[in-house]
Amino acid sequence: MAARLSVSNRYKRIVAIRRILQLGDPLLREKSEHASDPTSFVAVLTDLRDTLHDFQRTHGFGRGISAVQIGTLQRIIYLEFHGISYCLINPQYDHLSEEKFRLWDDCFSFPNLLAWLERSKTLRLLYHDEKGSERDIEAVGALSELIQHEMDHLDGILAIDRALDRNSLCTRDEWERRYRDRTSNGERNSSCLRAEV
Ligand SMILES: [Zn+2]
Repeated sequence: MAARLSVSNRYKRIVAIRRILQLGDPLLREKSEHASDPTSFVAVLTDLRDTLHDFQRTHGFGRGISAVQIGTLQRIIYLEFHGISYCLINPQYDHLSEEKFRLWDDCFSFPNLLAWLERSKTLRLLYHDEKGSERDIEAVGALSELIQHEMDHLDGILAIDRALDRNSLCTRDEWERRYRDRTSNGERNSSCLRAEV
């Protein structure tokens, strides 16, 4: 895949921004493979970080990206959450809570569509970092759902697959009009949506 190259003024280095695969690309439905070549981790992670930053600049949101979204079928995820970056290589669930919560989820691969779905409230994840060291992380709430979203990508599952019912998909424009700032925690006002859709 051709990478769009540009020079970062701040870092004076070549930045590799990759095209993000969009809904309908069959590669997004593939199961990613175990990442076994440590020499490739850094290159993939650099591309993921540069692509994430470009998406943030152009769309104003975005916290995580998986390698499959730039066309690399390896089990690698890059996250930025509350100022901390996470390089997750070959991540595996150690625990997913029975307790769930609901949210509107979005995705770089269909940035103008949101899905109302359910995620586990807490999780524990085992993974390797970019140096190959074994690590683990416990996550709650927003970080938990972010990790579950990216973990789904590694198995070819998209947020729209988890939409709770036929009223659980919404374009971004419509979501902005109906739900943004409606409640402090982003909860859906279901009576409004269900009455009008
Ligand atoms: Zn996504």
